[in-house]
Amino acid sequence: MATYKYAKVPANGDRIQYENGELTVPDHPIIPFIEGDGTGADIWRASVRVFDAAVARAYGGKRKVAWMEVYAGEKAFTQFNDWLPDETIDAMREFRVAIKGPLTTPVGGGIRSLNVTLRQVLDLYACIRPVRYFEGVGSPMKEPGRLNIVVFRENTEDVYAGIEWKAGSPEADKLRAFIKNELGKDLREHSAIGIKPMSEFGSKRLVRMAIQYALKHNLPSVTMVHKGNIMKFTEGAFRDWGYEVAKAEFADQTVTEADLGKAGNEARADALVMKDRIADSMFQQLLLRPNEYSVIATPNLNGDYLSDAAAAQVGGLGIAPGGNVGDGVAVFEATHGTAPKYANLDKINPGSVILSGVMMFEYLGWDDAAALIVRGLENAIASKHVTYDLARQMPGATEISTSAFGDQIIKGMDA
Ligand code: NAP
Repeated sequence: MATYKYAKVPANGDRIQYENGELTVPDHPIIPFIEGDGTGADIWRASVRVFDAAVARAYGGKRKVAWMEVYAGEKAFTQFNDWLPDETIDAMREFRVAIKGPLTTPVGGGIRSLNVTLRQVLDLYACIRPVRYFEGVGSPMKEPGRLNIVVFRENTEDVYAGIEWKAGSPEADKLRAFIKNELGKDLREHSAIGIKPMSEFGSKRLVRMAIQYALKHNLPSVTMVHKGNIMKFTEGAFRDWGYEVAKAEFADQTVTEADLGKAGNEARADALVMKDRIADSMFQQLLLRPNEYSVIATPNLNGDYLSDAAAAQVGGLGIAPGGNVGDGVAVFEATHGTAPKYANLDKINPGSVILSGVMMFEYLGWDDAAALIVRGLENAIASKHVTYDLARQMPGATEISTSAFGDQIIKGMDA
């Protein structure tokens, strides 16, 4: 067990355990949270009230989260002169499930993105983003309710591994010479060079998690989205390794789209369908035939683009949740940034952190609390008393503050 200098371990809570791939969650789990910079404090104040209200309603006092504040970002830097104290990472590892608000990435000064550091150090290899529509939210689509997907984006490899060299640097020149002399391929002079590593291990564990999720939630398909037509040995291999996992580990529960077609579509109606799509065509598919897709498993860069594009189809950032998940460690977080111009105005939409909390409760197996929050949010939106971002897209809506929207969600749980 780590020792904590800045954070206080709540005396009234217990640790979540992880053994043989299973979490054991006590009735009073200690859950570390990072409030977040900018609008983080406003959002967290509203969110934690919603979380506690849902748990109290769902379990009548039997269960309660023991929240433990841990520090990162500006708050940590101002108080402790450290952007990301080691003990914050220790706490996430030790207590296994955490939730965080957005963090400012300090520009320059050689400080790496805190979010990227957390993902890498804790090996949170899947970035999971569910995208669904809430009735009444303004959307650019005619029928936004047809989109209901969960994106599993690989979080540790691909061009995001951060292995790249500036054009004209000695490293780039050396690599260019090596590629020419040893491998016989020509790169244009004065090229910047980035490396795109994609491993069998990294690809398979991501697709495995997506398949397990789809099976657990009884979802119809997993679609692997790749650019294997162009990048055969990276993106193409991602697809092949994905099919291999399905065949080797889930043969009884899955069927490929191709085999299903051959069998006349009826033959394996109960099985999870494994499909793949080229990334460019997938952007069209999500616009034109969104209801044909459910779980999506994709490499890092495709996933980054795709999850933001999908979120825009259903009403934007204020209600776009996310989770970074590894084996037995998970950090849930809003997908938006700190929106600093709204800091301390009690104005911003807390929906993204609140829905990240829904993902967190589902991950803990506290489905009743999760469902209550979703109901609360649906009813709050239906009441048309919403924060500014939703109000400006909803004719006849009344704009309310962050804290009042939290109250409205809690009220909506009982409606
Ligand atoms: P941002 O903070 O996401 O804000 C961009 C715009 O998105 C806001 O001005 C606002 O649009 C809208 N928005 C964001 N959150 C919202 C919410 N909760 N409710 C309603 N609207 C919301 O992006 P940014 O300005 O590019 O980044 C600011 C800082 O955040 C940077 O330091 C960046 O590094 C950091 N960041 C952190 C994370 C993270 O911690 N995971 C992620 C991304 C960025 P309107 O102005 O139209 O209202």
